[in-house]
Amino acid sequence: MESAKHRNIELVTNAQVTSVEGEPGNFRVGLLHQPWYVDTDRCTGCGACIDVCPVSVPHEWEMDLKPRKAIYALFPQAAPLKYVIDRERCIECGLCMQACGLDAIDLSQEPGESVVETGAIVVATGAGVFDPSAIPEYGYPEHENVVTNMEFERICNASGPTEGELVRPDGKAIHSVVFVQCVGSRDLEYNVWCSFYCCMASVKGGRLVMEHAPGADVTVFFNDLRACGKGFEELYRRSIDEGMRFIRSMPSIRYDHETNDPIVIYEDPEVGGTVEKRVDLVVLACGMQGSEGTRSIRRILGLERDTYGFLSEEHPVDGLAETGRPGIYLAGTCQGPKDIPDSATQGSAAAAKVGILLSRGERWLPR
Ligand SMILES: Cc1cc2nc3c(=O)[nH]c(=O)nc-3n(C[C@H](O)[C@H](O)[C@H](O)COP(=O)(O)OP(=O)(O)OC[C@H]3O[C@@H](n4cnc5c(N)ncnc54)[C@H](O)[C@@H]3O)c2cc1C
Ligand code: SF4
Ligand code: SF4
Repeated sequence: MESAKHRNIELVTNAQVTSVEGEPGNFRVGLLHQPWYVDTDRCTGCGACIDVCPVSVPHEWEMDLKPRKAIYALFPQAAPLKYVIDRERCIECGLCMQACGLDAIDLSQEPGESVVETGAIVVATGAGVFDPSAIPEYGYPEHENVVTNMEFERICNASGPTEGELVRPDGKAIHSVVFVQCVGSRDLEYNVWCSFYCCMASVKGGRLVMEHAPGADVTVFFNDLRACGKGFEELYRRSIDEGMRFIRSMPSIRYDHETNDPIVIYEDPEVGGTVEKRVDLVVLACGMQGSEGTRSIRRILGLERDTYGFLSEEHPVDGLAETGRPGIYLAGTCQGPKDIPDSATQGSAAAAKVGILLSRGERWLPR
């Protein structure tokens, strides 16, 4: 939101990069602008149109846990806060046009193209998340109350599908949660790497549950608990002291179809033997992997990828924000799994490198 207000930043949304030509100091970036079907200069984001739109479809931002209308803004903090019409779902009933007092709806809009001239490029297209339906032992997505950590983030969010109330997808209040770590990570059959963010994301999630529902039973099943980072080990130990349980075991999940409760089956290293634990909710801590958005920009920019599908840095020690292509830099999880602080640090490094390049006052001329 700050970027949207910054006088030196022009935010281009609802558009894709289609081509990049040129050299450092002198790139030309081709853009394809998708139609909004709403005049964004007129739209004030008042929301009167969504009240009348009769179409209801799954809301991708809310991980399909809540519906949205055919005219919508992806989330309340979207920048810019302008509405867009999903033309594939719109039935052209015209009710939003009647409701919009500013005459902002314009179904005649067509895609458009433009070219941006720039001296340098920073790729920050992020990573994808492992799809746990590949591992049948977890029963995802068949079991309604087994959710991914992305879905859990929405359930906990004050502006999410439950408005921050801690209830599971079937509506029952949550008093016991199991987190399963390394789902699709550190696994020779799926992704071999550690996704880095997920141990601490689950500690954070477990603490949220304990704050929302005092006395809640929170258990984390892990391979190794990786609390690497300033203050992280301390937070992990404090969580144990406050009642969060950590069990080194990889469970499977059965479902009680009468109560909708997941039943977690695991080998207990302390007791010895198999234990069954009935809980309200299971959260799968899914790993990070290369994303389609990053793959497509990699092809356009002609960048290298590593064996795992992330973008290759120029050097693992002193070239982490550089690519093999001068003038093109990397920031965040497109280069490899990271948390927010490390992504922001790499973003600052990339910005500094851009500053150094552009302050030279030289331009590579087109060949
Ligand atoms: C469930 C979950 C919980 C997490 N919890 C925490 C936490 O508690 N603390 C923490 O520090 N980290 C957490 N993380 C990690 C954190 O989300 C990432 O470190 C961070 O979002 C990475 O930032 P990024 O800018 O690299 O990528 P992103 O935040 O993913 O941003 C990339 C953006 O690029 C856009 N994009 C993709 N392709 C293109 C394209 N071709 N053209 C234009 N735009 C494109 C995407 O739509 C997206 O908006 C969590 C991650 C997950 C999955
Ligand atoms: S399109 Fe019209 S009714 Fe809908 S949010 Fe924009 S200004 Fe409001
Ligand atoms: S951060 Fe933790 S949960 Fe995530 S892959 Fe690494 S060890 Fe597994």
